[in-house]
Amino acid sequence: MSYEDTLRYLSGATRLMDVGERIERLLMAPMRQLKVSVPMERDDGSVAVYDGFRIQHNDARGPFKGGLRFHPEADEGEVNALANLMSWKTALVGIPFGGAKGGIQVDPHGLSPGELERLARKFTEEIQVVIGPNVDIPAPDMNTDGQTMAWIMDEYSKAHGYSPGVVTGKPIELNGSQGRVAATGRGVALCTMWAMKDLGVDVSGATFAVQGLGNVGSWAARILAENGARLVAVGDHGGYIENPEGFDVPALIEHVANAGNRSVVGFPGSDASTPEAFFASDVDALIPCALGDVIDPAVAKTVRARLIVEGANGPTTTDAHQSLVDRGVMIVPDILANAGGVTCSYFEWVQNNQHFYWSEQDVNARLEPILRKAYDEVSGMAGAKKLDHRTAAFVIAVREVGKATVLRGI
Ligand code: NAD
Repeated sequence: MSYEDTLRYLSGATRLMDVGERIERLLMAPMRQLKVSVPMERDDGSVAVYDGFRIQHNDARGPFKGGLRFHPEADEGEVNALANLMSWKTALVGIPFGGAKGGIQVDPHGLSPGELERLARKFTEEIQVVIGPNVDIPAPDMNTDGQTMAWIMDEYSKAHGYSPGVVTGKPIELNGSQGRVAATGRGVALCTMWAMKDLGVDVSGATFAVQGLGNVGSWAARILAENGARLVAVGDHGGYIENPEGFDVPALIEHVANAGNRSVVGFPGSDASTPEAFFASDVDALIPCALGDVIDPAVAKTVRARLIVEGANGPTTTDAHQSLVDRGVMIVPDILANAGGVTCSYFEWVQNNQHFYWSEQDVNARLEPILRKAYDEVSGMAGAKKLDHRTAAFVIAVREVGKATVLRGI
C-alpha cells in the first residue's frame, strides 16, 4: 500500500467531517521517522547491510504501537503507510495506543535462524532509543513471530532491565498472552461472519477464498471452517489451488507447516489454480491475508465475491476500492477486519503491566465485544451517512485521533 493511498483516505475522511485543513495537516505527517542501517554477519563470514525503519505516526491516544516486518518491499513508503493505518486501527477499536510500524528491507527466507537472530538483535540495539513499554511497542507482522519478539525483548532488557511490555506477540513462556497467536485471524473470521449475516448469507455452507495461509489466514480459515463455511480456493507465495468441495482446513494447515517451502501447493486432492482464477472465485467471501496492493483496478474488475474482508493490511488499492464499492461489493476494511491482533496485543501489554495473567477463555471473551462494538459503529455510520465501510471507519477513527491531538495541544 502506498503512503499516498492512506493519505487519500485521510483526506476523504476529514472532508466529510468538515474539520478542515487544520486536523488534516496535523495528522498527515508521521511524528518521527527513524531509518537505520542494520549490519549482519552471515554464517559464511561475509557482511550484509540492510535498511531498517521505525516510523511513529501519532501517539496522541497512547504509546505508539505497530508491527515489525522482514520483507524485501518494506521500504520507507510502505512502512509509513502502515504506521499511518495503525493510528486509525487503534482508535477505531478504542484501545489506548497510537500508530507506528517497523520494517527491515530483507528477504528472510534465505537466512538461517542464527542470522535472523543477529539481525533482530542489531535492529533492536539501533532503535532502542525510540521504543519502550510506555513509548512504542512493536509486535509481529510478515515474516516475524514470537521468537523474533523474544529476541527483541531480551536485547532491550539488557539495556533497560527486564521489560516484557516492550513488545507484544511474545511466546507464552515469556509473558505472552493466551489467544494472541489466533487473535488477528479470529477477528477476521468474526467480521466475515457478521458481514455475511448483514448480507443475508448463511455462514454454514457459505464459501470463501483465502490468499495467504500464514498466521492470519490460517486462523481465519480454521475458525470459519469450524462454523460450517467451506474454503474452496487458496493461494500463497508458492502458488494457488482449489477444491470446489471444500478443503479439510486443519489438514491443509498441517501440510503447509510440514512443506519445505511452507506452501499450500501440492496438497493432496487439490486442483492447481492461478492468481487470476483465485481472485475471480465465485465465493461468498474473498479474504486476502498476505500482501498489500493485490487487488488493483484490473483485478477488481474480475472479482465475483459480494464481500471482501481485508485480513492483510492494504490489500486493495484506492482505485480498486472505489470500483468495487461502485459495483456494490462490501469491503470490511483492514483497520477493522484485522484489528483483533492489536486488540489482543493491548491485552498482553495490560497483563505485562499488572503482572497478572488471564486464561484463553478470558482473552477471547474480552476480544469479541470490542470488535463487535467497532463493527457496529462502522456499520451504523455507513448506513446513516450512506458511506462505504472503509470511509465510515476512517471518519470514526480520524475523528478520535483528531480530537485527542487537539486536546493535547499543537
Ligand atoms: P505470515 O508471514 O504469517 O504469512 C504471510 C502469508 O502471505 C504466507 O501464507 C505467505 O505464503 C503469503 N505470501 C507471501 N508472499 C506472497 C505472494 N507473493 N503471493 C501470495 N501470497 C504470499 O504473515 P501474517 O502475520 O499472517 O500477516 C499477513 C498479513 O496480515 C500482512 O499484511 C500483515 O500486515 C497483516 N496483519 C498481520 C497481523 C498479525 O497479527 N500477524 C495483524 C494485523 C495485520
